[in-house]
Amino acid sequence: MNSPYKAPSSPVGENRSDTRALSPSPARVVYVVSNNLAKVSSLLPSNKNRSVLVHTLVKQYGLLDVANPQSARPIHPVPATVEELTRYHSRQYIDFVLDPYNFSKQDDAIPSSTHAEFGIQEDCPAFAGLHKYIPLVAGATLTAANSLIKGEADISICWDGGRHHAQKSKASGFCYVADCVLAILALKRDRINTLGLPPHKSRVMYLDLDLHFSDGVSQAFVSPGGPGSGEPQVLTLSIHHASPGFFPVSALSSLSDPTEESFDPFTLSLPLARGASDATFARMWKSVEAVKHAFQPDYVVVQCGVDGLAGDSYAVWNWSLGSSEGSLSWCVNRICRTWQCKTLLLGGGGYNHPNVARAWTHLTSVAVCSFSSSIATGTVLVSNRSLKSSQVLSAKEALLTKL
Ligand SMILES: [Zn+2]
Repeated sequence: MNSPYKAPSSPVGENRSDTRALSPSPARVVYVVSNNLAKVSSLLPSNKNRSVLVHTLVKQYGLLDVANPQSARPIHPVPATVEELTRYHSRQYIDFVLDPYNFSKQDDAIPSSTHAEFGIQEDCPAFAGLHKYIPLVAGATLTAANSLIKGEADISICWDGGRHHAQKSKASGFCYVADCVLAILALKRDRINTLGLPPHKSRVMYLDLDLHFSDGVSQAFVSPGGPGSGEPQVLTLSIHHASPGFFPVSALSSLSDPTEESFDPFTLSLPLARGASDATFARMWKSVEAVKHAFQPDYVVVQCGVDGLAGDSYAVWNWSLGSSEGSLSWCVNRICRTWQCKTLLLGGGGYNHPNVARAWTHLTSVAVCSFSSSIATGTVLVSNRSLKSSQVLSAKEALLTKL
C-alpha cells in the first residue's frame, strides 16, 4: 500500500545532519538516578523496593562509573513542576494527588468517591509519599528527555518512568502519572535544525514493548479529527498481549488493519498471542522497522516493560534476554545501534523484581556498548515453572502481514 506518512522534509538519513547530530559510536548515554528517586520510586505499591534493586545492580556492574569508558553518565532528576505536570494532566487531578492530606492514613474526612473519581483505588491505592512520587517520576523522565533535546546525549535512560496506563485525570493500572506522554509532548516541541533546510517540527515515535497495551499513551495521541486528519508528529506503536478480559480493555488494542475505514496510521497496535517468544519478535520486527523507516522519527521513546519476559509472574509471553534474534536485548540493540534516532529508554511493568533488575541492567549495558560485548546479567533469568512448553505459541503470522 502507499505510505500514509507524508514525505519528510529531508531525504532519508539526512536528517541526522542537524547541529545536534548523533555522536559517533559509542553513544553518549545518560542515566537518571538519585538516592531520593530510588527511595521514592520504591514506594510504588505494585513494585515495592524494585527501584532500589535496579539502580543498585546497575551501579554494582560499574555501568555508572564515569571512569569506565563503557558506562552511562548518571544525572539527577529535577522534579516536575505543577506547570509541567498540567501540560497533560488536569489541574483538578494534580491538585488532588499533590495534596498529602488526601492520603493520610488518619484521614477519614475525604469521601471515597473523590478517590474513585481520580482512580486512586483498587490497583492504584493511595500511599504515603504519592505527592512526592508523582513530580519526581515525571521529572525523572522529563530530565532524560531534556538531555536529548539539549544535545547532551544520544540515549537517555529512566527506568523509573514508563507509566503508560495513567490518564489525563485518572490513575490506572499501577500508573499514577503519565510521564511517557509528558516526555513525548516535550520532545515534539523541539524543532530540528537540518543543514541547508528550514527547521522542521520533530517527529516522535513511541514504541511500547510492555506485555500490556499502552492505552494511556495511545489514547493521548490518537488523531483528534479521526483517521487521516492533520499531520501528526507523534506515532505510537504498541506491541502487547490482548485477549478477552486482559487489561487494559480498549478498542485501540486490536490489530491495526489498513483496510478498515477507522485505520489510523499514527496509532498502531500489534497484539501477540500467549507464549510469544524471541522467534515471534524476530518475525514481526521487520514490520516494526518498516513503520520506523516510513515515519522517519527524530526521537524514539521506548517503553521497556519486562512483564513479557519468561519468569515474570504474569506468565503470558516467553520472551527472553538472550542473544538470539528477536530477544528483548536484540530489539533494543537494533534501536540503539541502527535506528539513528535520539532514544529515550523507559521502564514499565515487571513483577519478578530480581529479573527486572537483571533485565534493565543488561539493557543499560546494551545501550552503552555493543550488543556482543554487553554484560550477561540478562541471560540468567529465573525460570517460570508455570509456563508450559505447550503454551509457547507463535503469533498469528497472517495478522502480522497486514502491517
Ligand atoms: Zn505491563
